Amino acid sequence: MSLCDLTVHEVLDLIKSGEVSAKEVRESVLARIEKVESRVCSYITMTPELDSDGAFHGLPLALKDNICTRGVRTTCGSRILEHFVPPYDATVVTRLKAQGIGIVGKTNMDEFAMGSSCENSAFFPTRNPWDLDRVPGGSSGGSAAAVAAGEAMWALGSDTGGSVRQPASFCGVVGLKPTYGRVSRYGLVAFASSLDQIGPITRDVLDSAILLSVIAGHDPLDSTSAPVPVPDYVQDVRRDVKGLKVGLVREYLGQGTEDGVRSCILKAVEVLTDLGAHVEEVSLPHTAYALDAYYLIAPAEASSNLARYDGVKYGYRAEGAVGLLDMYQRTRREGFGEEVKRRIMLGTYALSSGYYDAYYLRAQKVRTLIRMDFQKAFSEYDVLLGPTAPTVAFRAGERTSDPLSMYLSDVCTIPINLAGIPAVSIPCGFSGGLPVGLQIIGKPFSEAIILRAAYAFESSTDHHKNRPALTGEGGEA
Ligand code: GLN
Repeated sequence: MSLCDLTVHEVLDLIKSGEVSAKEVRESVLARIEKVESRVCSYITMTPELDSDGAFHGLPLALKDNICTRGVRTTCGSRILEHFVPPYDATVVTRLKAQGIGIVGKTNMDEFAMGSSCENSAFFPTRNPWDLDRVPGGSSGGSAAAVAAGEAMWALGSDTGGSVRQPASFCGVVGLKPTYGRVSRYGLVAFASSLDQIGPITRDVLDSAILLSVIAGHDPLDSTSAPVPVPDYVQDVRRDVKGLKVGLVREYLGQGTEDGVRSCILKAVEVLTDLGAHVEEVSLPHTAYALDAYYLIAPAEASSNLARYDGVKYGYRAEGAVGLLDMYQRTRREGFGEEVKRRIMLGTYALSSGYYDAYYLRAQKVRTLIRMDFQKAFSEYDVLLGPTAPTVAFRAGERTSDPLSMYLSDVCTIPINLAGIPAVSIPCGFSGGLPVGLQIIGKPFSEAIILRAAYAFESSTDHHKNRPALTGEGGEA
């Protein structure tokens, strides 16, 4: 193992005891990027001049390319923003910088965060470090692949329907989607504003708690950020899980869930039971409607948010247009990719007069039913469990021609966004040599509890210690 394969808390200990310098760690990450980036393709833009001041010594973080960075282009994986350089930093970026966390690069993603495989990036696909023929998941696939491959010590992604948790699951790392309102969205390029949240992607649970502590908290610049006090996640994570009431979500283990995934989850249940948790099956009866509701609500919000890309104030503008309407049309036709256009059309349709009640309004009612499923479950249980995704990482190209099969990879994550609650994906084993993610779901603002359950599981297992062979010393790399 190289320094870049350790966790952040491990290297902080080594730096503190004087065994290594922060500079050595940063150089180790840069050397790894040099070695594997041409195969993994995690980054759209590199920003390797790392500032070494502050509590975290410039330890390199990979930032999803839909989070605005002053003076550094923020493409959102889209042609339409290919040359867009934000004049300001997102609030999370300001917070990272204040703690001395260095941004090593902006990571690849599905265009406007619409996708589950990174194959919808306008630039190139990212590969899964565990198997280069497979996808890293999406839409934060570049961030998850970078952390798994040692190309960053940690990362931030965004999660609208699973985009932090699903790639974390596919790449064998930890991905946390905080409660809606826990982390500021100021400077996150909007996809579906009532669902989007920024979340940490790390190599273990303690690092996740550390990074969440850095980014969580109220922000007057985001009216949806919640004025709720931030607990000490790092301290709380170490408490045990004796007597914790855990519900295993029946619907997430149903049809469509691979046997290899199911057996890892059931083994995880045994581990938690041995640790003193009480695990029972629970039903979330409206789960079957979550995907349909999401694919009306998210595109509806997207169609409205993406109306701003019209070639006038910023971003790409088509050449050779005759008149304003022609300019709008050409700009959007040339600037957006297939999936983004599909969502804009779906969303515009769902919101249009005559269809609003039948689609958008009904989807919002279903959203309420889904939220109530969770409320009911949480009246009996402290946390809920299930797989993060029904399968392990699929092969590149396997689902690109069938949007529905792509959408299905988020069946277990989307309900959580609709309900606005937090969930974390942690490594819980392998199926056919590929990582499986365990999803732990909590009540609003109970990040401390889900992280505690995750930490207890992690502390009594070794899954999170595996690193892909691609990066192994003396291996292919
Ligand atoms: N894969 C889902 C979608 O395509 C979720 C994406 C996300 O969370 N940003 O919409």
